[in-house]
Amino acid sequence: TDAILQEGTEKIIRDLSMYKGVWVFAEQREGKIMPVVFELLGEGKKLANEIGTELCAILCGSNVAGLTDELIAYGADKVYLADAPELEKYTTDGYSKVINEAIGVYKPEIVLYGATHIGRDLAPCLAVKVNTGLTADCTKLEIDPDDKKIRQTRPAFGGNLMATIVCPGSRPQMSTVRPGVMDKAVYDPTKKGEVIKLNAVFAEGDIRTKVLEIVKTTADIISISDADFIVAGGMGLGKPEGMELLQQLADKLGGTVAASRACVDAGWADHNIQVGQTGTTVKPQIYFACGISGAIQHIAGMQESDLIIAINKNENAPIFEVADYGIVGDLYKVIPAIIDELNK
Ligand code: FAD
Repeated sequence: TDAILQEGTEKIIRDLSMYKGVWVFAEQREGKIMPVVFELLGEGKKLANEIGTELCAILCGSNVAGLTDELIAYGADKVYLADAPELEKYTTDGYSKVINEAIGVYKPEIVLYGATHIGRDLAPCLAVKVNTGLTADCTKLEIDPDDKKIRQTRPAFGGNLMATIVCPGSRPQMSTVRPGVMDKAVYDPTKKGEVIKLNAVFAEGDIRTKVLEIVKTTADIISISDADFIVAGGMGLGKPEGMELLQQLADKLGGTVAASRACVDAGWADHNIQVGQTGTTVKPQIYFACGISGAIQHIAGMQESDLIIAINKNENAPIFEVADYGIVGDLYKVIPAIIDELNK
């Protein structure tokens, strides 16, 4: 199909059949690929197989050529590499310039970005530059078997409904995807792929921002999105010191502590460990929800966990609707009992 887009008085005819391939934005920081990229490669592979196309990664940075093997091992058939000193630190101008040019030349059908701070900044800018749509914060992606277009699902209206969105008349179809929602790609170091070097050349004034310094929020960043075991607490803790009890259980399991937004708002926990719609989406092997009521905005961030164990003294708390195991009781009695059992 041809899509006709109106831009001012000029008509742009776009032949949508020219657009091929699923691309993943391979976000790296300080030479390390972000974990969400491996999830996007896993999901991207499924989409590419269903459409019958190739999976590609686009990597930007300075001296990052060494990362291409890892991307190929995680499933990329091709890696588009933009390697230049100007790309050492992320800037919207620098990254969007090279990716916009690459999209113009190679015409991907789908481009996926992690819904990280960088992905959420870059993707909308590119959507405007390439004149296409963007669905932000997706939790599910599917190919429609009839028209082969991507169906992009995301929570809307405070998580009260799930909206499924299509991008009918323009290409590429673009989504940012929440970290922690999709399954990671399988690592195969024997896989072969091609690296295509992009022409990352910048003129004076192309990059209007200068990054002076990068300040990390805490010296030791706690990553709940990567944890296998999470012990999360809510207002049922009753006091900030309750977080210490959660930490004891987390230490026993080799896991980490997380919190509901109400705890974060109360100043009992840092936003880095908030689970939910306005926090982080997590998918651990076990998620303990202790004294958490189970508001829809919280559930949106943890319902994909492999096993959910809820402890709440109200047997009608909504958290029990998503829990695999529910313990009705006072968390100050239940958690020490679990720790005692683990000690045995
Ligand atoms: P409460 O709702 O107060 O629940 C406390 C629970 O503890 C109750 O179920 C109670 O029965 C139980 N309890 C009390 N004492 C004990 C005890 N001794 N032992 C065991 N159980 C006990 N929330 C999030 O978590 N994450 C988000 O990202 C998020 N984003 C939001 C975005 C928007 C736009 C809005 C409007 C809200 C958002 N919220 C979010 C807030 C959310 O709606 C809830 O208010 C919040 O999750 C409630 O936190 P809670 O479960 O800790 O507290």
